[in-house]
Amino acid sequence: MAATSSAPAPYEELRGQYRSFMDEHVYPNEEALSREDDGASVLIEALRARAKRAGLWAPHLPPEAGGTGQGFLAYASLNEEIGRVPWAQLIFNCQAPDAGNGEILHIFGTDDQKTRWLVPLVQGDIRSFFSMTEPDVSGADPTGLQTTAVLEGGTWVINGRKWFSSGAEGAAFGIVMAVTEPQAPPHRRMSQIIVPADSPGVEIEPVAVLGHRGRGWSTHCEVRYENVAVPAGNLLGERGAGFRIAQVRLGPGRIHHVMRWLGQMQRAFELMCGRALERQAFGGPLAEKETVQDWVADSAAEIHACRLMTYDAARKIDRGLDARVDISLLKFYAATALSNVVDRAVQVHGGLGLTDRSPLSYMYTLARGAHIYDGPDEVHRMVVSRRILKEFADGGRWTFG
Ligand SMILES: Cc1cc2nc3c(=O)[nH]c(=O)nc-3n(C[C@H](O)[C@H](O)[C@H](O)COP(=O)(O)OP(=O)(O)OC[C@H]3O[C@@H](n4cnc5c(N)ncnc54)[C@H](O)[C@@H]3O)c2cc1C
Repeated sequence: MAATSSAPAPYEELRGQYRSFMDEHVYPNEEALSREDDGASVLIEALRARAKRAGLWAPHLPPEAGGTGQGFLAYASLNEEIGRVPWAQLIFNCQAPDAGNGEILHIFGTDDQKTRWLVPLVQGDIRSFFSMTEPDVSGADPTGLQTTAVLEGGTWVINGRKWFSSGAEGAAFGIVMAVTEPQAPPHRRMSQIIVPADSPGVEIEPVAVLGHRGRGWSTHCEVRYENVAVPAGNLLGERGAGFRIAQVRLGPGRIHHVMRWLGQMQRAFELMCGRALERQAFGGPLAEKETVQDWVADSAAEIHACRLMTYDAARKIDRGLDARVDISLLKFYAATALSNVVDRAVQVHGGLGLTDRSPLSYMYTLARGAHIYDGPDEVHRMVVSRRILKEFADGGRWTFG
């Protein structure tokens, strides 16, 4: 299959183990998992325990952080397999936003913070959320965030209103971006603070997104902070470093998303091709209609391009090179490819593609958010073109090294 033949060879065996687990335990349970009821929660816990026993656990983090990771390229290969079913990231304990929170706790956390928050997070005993976006100001331009944290004695006192704090329902803690240095330049005003979810003054309320309320991990929540007091030691990294830490978190996070989208695209593509071959209309299979053939060819080209771009960016990150432009380029390009491929697959399925009898309907709603979360497409285009144009303005000539 194309998806496997282009995977980096050293990781093919490990990828095969993830694929076997998906075949045996995840696809057969996909419908039950998507019900998001008590039964689904029990099933998730059982599958998590099984994945952990099998050593298929936290593949995004290096062993020194408690994971089984072997770098970005390896993870790109595995995550394409994992991304084919939305719940699988939770089963292998590499789900957003815990994955990103684990990374910044590993890089910036104190020993105490690691013991208290990172260890149980990587063990899978607790979940977390990342609380940056606010309803009242632009999330695309986080320099305008309004939530404040004031140090009073040995305590941070936090006030503000966030939303789209994914997975906040049932989480043990959140990492909150708050203004701690109001007089500093825009990118030095904010800090990140760890807030236990059961702190007095924290109120969490799921918001339905595209008609879907979710449950626990799959929620997107409004979170209100009213005089929430946490110890001074809950500051993550330095005062005023919130924006920089967010960049460290969101850079890899964006490429993690794209890795999973590849899985979604590939799966939608396979479903589209299968349906086109079997469905008869106007005297023959859909596969014989030229428009459908165009969709297959365009989708194949887009998926292949995204995969090569992902592997290229992952290799750069593994070599310690600057991949900021690569990641932004990939973020908007892959979001569009994902939407295109899933939309075409839905179209080939006709009405079936919009029902809960096909995974495509859920994939379709998830694909829309890809254009917005972790930076809207327009902002990533801006980042890419600014950087390229600056290089030309300085007398250089942009190339992808
Ligand atoms: C499914 C989902 C999960 C999310 N999870 C989290 C989470 O866990 N934690 C968290 O903190 N946030 C989360 N977010 C929030 C997300 O990061 C923000 O929605 C995003 O950054 C955009 O901010 P905004 O919604 O305030 O849009 P705005 O900033 O109001 O922007 C609105 C629109 O303006 C346009 N725009 C903005 N800037 C420019 C520009 N420079 N040029 C041209 N057009 C522009 C874009 O089209 C953009 O979509 C999530 C969002 C979604 C959809």
